Amino acid sequence: MIFRRRATVVRRGQCLADLEVEGERIVYLLKRSSARRSLSLRVNAEGMAQVNAPWSMAQTRIDAFLRQHAAWLRGQLARRRVGPVWQDGVLLPFLGGEIQLEWHPILHGKSVALDGRRLVCEVAEGGLETAVIHWYRSQAAACLADRMAHVCARLDRPVPVWRLSNAYTRWGSLSAKGVVSLNWRLVKGSVEEIDYVICHELAHFRRRDHSAAFWREVAALYPDYQTMRQRLRLQGARYLEF
Ligand SMILES: [Zn+2]
Repeated sequence: MIFRRRATVVRRGQCLADLEVEGERIVYLLKRSSARRSLSLRVNAEGMAQVNAPWSMAQTRIDAFLRQHAAWLRGQLARRRVGPVWQDGVLLPFLGGEIQLEWHPILHGKSVALDGRRLVCEVAEGGLETAVIHWYRSQAAACLADRMAHVCARLDRPVPVWRLSNAYTRWGSLSAKGVVSLNWRLVKGSVEEIDYVICHELAHFRRRDHSAAFWREVAALYPDYQTMRQRLRLQGARYLEF
């Protein structure tokens, strides 16, 4: 876990602050007031995370509070995120590049197929989003299985039990029982980004935390991990649009 703080004063008692939690930056509005006795966190009317805090509370306590509620907050923010406009011609991320949706409204149609860079959808009115997401998930199942096999073969280790996840807050995770979960939305990223996330989860078999020792483990499995982490950080919001 790395964190860096930058604060911009909006007006007296209010500032924009940010905190990095497990590789993801949380930007929030911090409102301090001498009338307050406790901390609160919410998503305000503008769709921004807002922390209300007592006037002189130490920043370290506010940071700890935010870390504790980071998963909840990400879920709240993700729910408000605006997705792509589901219509003919829209560009969608896929395997590190972009594909263009081509929609032919057809009564009872459910067919979605990739033809070069065109995603040809012969889909009934009102069913486009569901059909495209279904297509992405089936692509993810095949593609992530392929990358998992490839990475494990390269590292000369058995393929672990794994499953697709639909999380809005993380790319991958490793359960206490040793089951790897990979977010189907990773199929929007490049093969390198996918391989990094796989290696990240494989490294968790040896270290469950995100300590320096853990990152050395990741580096041994995927030397260029920092570039991919950065890329996921920059592209993440786009991959999470739907
Ligand atoms: Zn991790």
